Amino acid sequence: MTNSTTALFQQEGTEALPSSPALIGGTCKSCGAIFFPMQNYGCEECGSTELAPKTLTGRGTLIASALVHMPVGTEYKEPFVVGSIQTEDGAILRSLLDAPADAALTPGMTMVAKLTLETRPNRGEYDLRFTPALD
Ligand SMILES: [Zn+2]
Repeated sequence: MTNSTTALFQQEGTEALPSSPALIGGTCKSCGAIFFPMQNYGCEECGSTELAPKTLTGRGTLIASALVHMPVGTEYKEPFVVGSIQTEDGAILRSLLDAPADAALTPGMTMVAKLTLETRPNRGEYDLRFTPALD
């Protein structure tokens, strides 16, 4: 497998969580802030442009979720579920969730990253989702 063209994630997990794909985020060399995705505009915490890529563990805590019935400007088929997740490394991100529309998603529950087959054209082979952890 090759990474997606946007390189937001990699199939290989981290040492802390080898069974789930890792996220490709970044860290600030000045203040240590961790963010996702990697960017070079500047640290959201201190403004430094001394940023470096950092592989983040694909596990975190669900902050909130929403069932989307009428999306605007997306290639995904509705309804779908989106969520905000704080990773164990401290980055906060939004992701599609691999969960049925009537799933009992509760803020604070543990979520893990997983790869699904990409359904959109020209986006590579896999797409990333977060799903409730089984344990
Ligand atoms: Zn910083």
